[in-house]
Amino acid sequence: MNVLEAEGLHTFYGKSHILHGIGLTVGEGEIVTLLGRNGAGKTTTMRTLMGLTPARSGSIRMLGRDTTGWPPYRVAALGVGFVPEGRRVFANLTVEENLRVPLERSGPFTVDRVYQLFPRLQERRTSRGRQLSGGEQEMLSIARALLLNPKLLMLDEPSQGLAPLIVRQVFETVVAMRKEGISILLVEQNVRAAVEIADRAYVLEDGHVAYEGRAAEFAQDEERVRALAGASA
Ligand code: ATP
Repeated sequence: MNVLEAEGLHTFYGKSHILHGIGLTVGEGEIVTLLGRNGAGKTTTMRTLMGLTPARSGSIRMLGRDTTGWPPYRVAALGVGFVPEGRRVFANLTVEENLRVPLERSGPFTVDRVYQLFPRLQERRTSRGRQLSGGEQEMLSIARALLLNPKLLMLDEPSQGLAPLIVRQVFETVVAMRKEGISILLVEQNVRAAVEIADRAYVLEDGHVAYEGRAAEFAQDEERVRALAGASA
């Protein structure tokens, strides 16, 4: 069963036509990665799926419902979590306060459970958001999304700007979340790390799907990986 099925999404920012008929699926229990160069439309795709920047045409089904045209709060209440790019933690609130902000949907993830998963956050409970390292802020953003007990979690570049060791921890967390039964859509610039943990990959180019396939197959296409990963690879 698919937890996400999107077809023919066309999204605009004003007059700029950004998504040109994107279609993608995420199966139950899958990790699917969405790759592409800067400006390819990855963030816009996630914003469209969440209802933050609604599509002008196309259809979206998530968790068995037709969510086309739904506002973000309804999509979230259905069980779709979103961790936006740039870790929007509340700088002046403590870690604990940040975790108490979201509406908790009932399910296995409670604040205590989240502290078990992220012991570092418990140690930093009384620290303010702005005092955390980039890695700690990312963990806090993910922890906050988990309190919604999502069935489907969308993560926008969680490894951005993090040191390699911390990147590894973030990716381990993503794998751990899948073990908890959460399906994942992962936008990443870190191509090699993303295809290592993903089941399937999509590559966006100029608002189109340019490639779709098994992540393991994509990982072996050295030329494609290098082209996407750029100079950093
Ligand atoms: P990045 O890795 O840089 O975030 P991306 O693949 O996520 O890239 P998007 O952020 O979805 O790409 O951007 C797709 C296109 O939409 C880009 O050309 C960008 O300049 C444009 N764009 C993004 N946000 C807006 C906006 N609010 N208004 C107008 N154009 C925008």
